[in-house]
Formats: sequence, C-alpha cells, structure tokens
Amino acid sequence: MKEIVIISGKGGTGKTSIVASFAALTGSTGSRLRQGFVGQARLGPHAVLADCDVDAADLHLLLAPTIRRREEFRCGHEAVTRQADCIGCGACLARCRFGAVIRSDGKEDPRKEHAFTIDPTSCEGCGVCVWACPVKAIDFPERVAGEWYVSDTRHGPMVYARLVPGGENSGKLVSKVREVARTLAEERQCDLVIVDGPPGVGCAVIASVSGASLVVVVTEPTLSGAHDMARVLELTRHFNIPAAVCVNKWDLNADMAGRIESDARQAGAAIAGRVRYDRAVTDAQVRNRAVVDLPGAAAGDDIKALWENLEGRQQTKETV
Ligand code: SF4
Ligand code: SF4
Repeated sequence: MKEIVIISGKGGTGKTSIVASFAALTGSTGSRLRQGFVGQARLGPHAVLADCDVDAADLHLLLAPTIRRREEFRCGHEAVTRQADCIGCGACLARCRFGAVIRSDGKEDPRKEHAFTIDPTSCEGCGVCVWACPVKAIDFPERVAGEWYVSDTRHGPMVYARLVPGGENSGKLVSKVREVARTLAEERQCDLVIVDGPPGVGCAVIASVSGASLVVVVTEPTLSGAHDMARVLELTRHFNIPAAVCVNKWDLNADMAGRIESDARQAGAAIAGRVRYDRAVTDAQVRNRAVVDLPGAAAGDDIKALWENLEGRQQTKETV
C-alpha cells in the first residue's frame, strides 16, 4: 500500500483543493474501471482519503461525507472536584500552578466558607491537586480531546477528525487518523491512502509524514512560499522521505516559481508539476466540487497532469 501525503509550509496554498481533485481522480464516479498503482484494473475507488489537518479539517466541506462511524478521541486527563466530598481546605488552589482552581463563596454549602471548582479550559492535567487533596475529592478522568470519523464520499471512503476547541495532542490524533485510514484501505482492498496533511512543520506535520511513501509539498510563488517550502523539505530530508514540489498559481510570479523549483531540486526534491491560477478553483469550492470535475477548467487540467506524474512516479518506484 502506498501513502501520499500532501502538505504545505502554511495554510491557504490551495492544498485541500488539490487533494479533493486527487480524490476525484482516484475515486469511483460510477462503474468505471480504474487502474490502481499496482496496475490492476478494478471497479470502484482505489484510494482511501485521510484528512490529517485536524486543527482545521476542511476536506469534508468539499466532499460532503456521510458519516458511518464516529469515535471519541481521548487524550490526557483533567481534574474535576466532587463538591459533595470537598471540605473547602483550599489545598488545590495553593498547589495549582496554572490558575485553574477557582475560589468562590461557599454559600451553597453551609459547611464551607469557600467553594473550589476547576476550570477545564485552564487545567493542564498535571495531577498535582489530585495528589494534594487531603480527602481525595478530586477525580481525574481522561479528557475528550476530539472525535474521529469514518465516512463515505462520492469519491470513496474518507477518515477525518476534529479537535475540540483548545484540544491538545493533535499529533496523536493525526496518527490515529492515519492508522484508521490504513486499516480501512486494507479492508476495502485499496492500494493507496491520500493524506491531506496539516500546514507548518510542527508535531502534527511530523505525525502526518513519518513513514509515508511520498510527500507532495504545495507552495505558492512568493518569498514566504519559498521559505516555507525550504523548511518543509528540511523536515522530509531529516526523516528520509521522498518529496516532490508543486507550485500552485505559478503564473502569478513565473520568475519566483522557477526559483522555487530550482531550490527544490537543490534540496533533493523532485518537481511534481505546476498549477496555474484559475477562478474555476473558487467556483468549484463554492459548488462543493473538485476543480477537476468542472469541464474545461485549466487548473483541473494541470492537476490531472500533476496526478499522472505522481502516479507514474509511484509505479516506477522512482526515488527522488
Ligand atoms: S490537574 Fe494540575 S492544572 Fe489541573 S487543576 Fe489540578 S493542579 Fe491545576
Ligand atoms: S484540596 Fe480537596 S478538599 Fe481541599 S478545596 Fe481542593 S478539592 Fe476541596
């Protein structure tokens, strides 16, 4: 099974539009026979999609999934005071270094001068108050940090997730999404997982790319695009993952697009292709479609060429 991860140095480069088009090109839109990476003709989709941009998942907005399975993602712990057992000593307030314990007057409980509660958004889950409470009146349950979903879209199965506001450990949730997507691909005999990765070079990106067959870096022809691409390519080089670069909206600054491609080659990456600026991309987003689904869209043609290049690269097992 191959796993292609599409990432960008920052958000807003058009990465998700490109991923949605890849989904349309690999997914089933009827009963067409399709060619998988292993070269076998088959019915139906040959790819599972995974949206690993868990902080701002948006692939589902374009693909309108029907959710088949929904699971809570639990990570870390949070402190919760049991008021009936609390004697109002204030030890938790004195020990908490994160300002998460709130003291208020205890008029609802005549036994106490003050009531002590814990603000879940400020609690870091360190457990010190649990240890310090003399009457063990603080519970320490696992924290629900988000949800993940297995769904069906018109272009095939998709796994995606959402962190709750303020939810942490997006890297762990990304790993979970990839794991579920790979399992689903095995079950459905798909030979490819296409991952929409998060932007940047942080923990969630590392969790998205580790062990991937190929990373496709989508960038724009600007100075910041060049800088962001360089940082991402440092990351892929560090983890020894083959990388290919696509300059989106290249015709907005052809000179810069050429410079970015030159920098990418020097950094050891391949050039996957270019996608021109095209208002049809926005039209497709407004209509919840992939741009390759719009007849005559120039950017759609570019993305088809990009995909054929990537598919050929995988079939020949080219190393970059
Ligand atoms: S678990 Fe830690 S952060 Fe949370 S309330 Fe207790 S001491 Fe404060
Ligand atoms: S340490 Fe325990 S008993 Fe004391 S105020 Fe906090 S929760 Fe209540």
